[in-house]
Amino acid sequence: MKKIEEYVRSIPDFPEPGIIFRDITSVLQDAEGLQLAINSMQEFLKDVDVDVIAGAESRGFIFGVPIAYNLHKPFVPIRKKGKLPRETVSASYDLEYGSATIEMHKDSIKPGQKVVIVDDLIATGGTIEAAIKLVEELGGEVVKVIFLMELAGLHGRERLKGYDVESVICYE
Ligand code: AMP
Repeated sequence: MKKIEEYVRSIPDFPEPGIIFRDITSVLQDAEGLQLAINSMQEFLKDVDVDVIAGAESRGFIFGVPIAYNLHKPFVPIRKKGKLPRETVSASYDLEYGSATIEMHKDSIKPGQKVVIVDDLIATGGTIEAAIKLVEELGGEVVKVIFLMELAGLHGRERLKGYDVESVICYE
C-alpha cells in the first residue's frame, strides 16, 4: 500500500520562485489517496469531544466536510472576505505569499462549543491563527487543529503554541 506522502505532488517555484507547492489534487484524484487522507486526519479525532468542525477556504473544505459528515457533526466554513451573505466577524493576516482576510458568520459557532479547525497545510500558521481568533471571538473553544501537511521549517506550530496541533505529513 502506498503511503499518503507518495500521493502529494511537490511543484518547485509555484506560485512564486522559491516556494515548493504541495499539490493535493494528486491525492484527491486517486480513490485510495482520498480515503487515506480523510481517514488519517479523522484518526486524530478518535477520542476527542467535538461539537463543530470548521474548515478554512478552500482546501480546508475538501477535508473538513467529509470528516464532519463521518462524525455526524456540523461543518462551518471559514471563508475569504466578501463571500458570506449574513453578519460576519473578520480577521486579517499575512500569508507565505501575500495577505488576506477571512470571515465567519456571527451565528456559526455558539458560545461554549468545542471546535476542531481543519486545513490542508500549515505554512507560517497565519491563516489558522486568524481562524482561531474568529472561533474564539464567537465564544468557541478550539480543542484541536488538524492539517494534512505541515511545513515545519516555517515554524507555524510555534505560532499556535498552546493549541493541540496535529499533522499527517511533516516536511522539514
Ligand atoms: P499559512 O497561513 O502561512 O500557514 O498558509 C497556509 C495556507 O496557504 C494553506 O491553506 C495552504 O493552502 C496555503 N499554502 C501555503 N504554502 C503552501 C505550499 N507551499 N504549498 C501548498 N499550499 C500552501
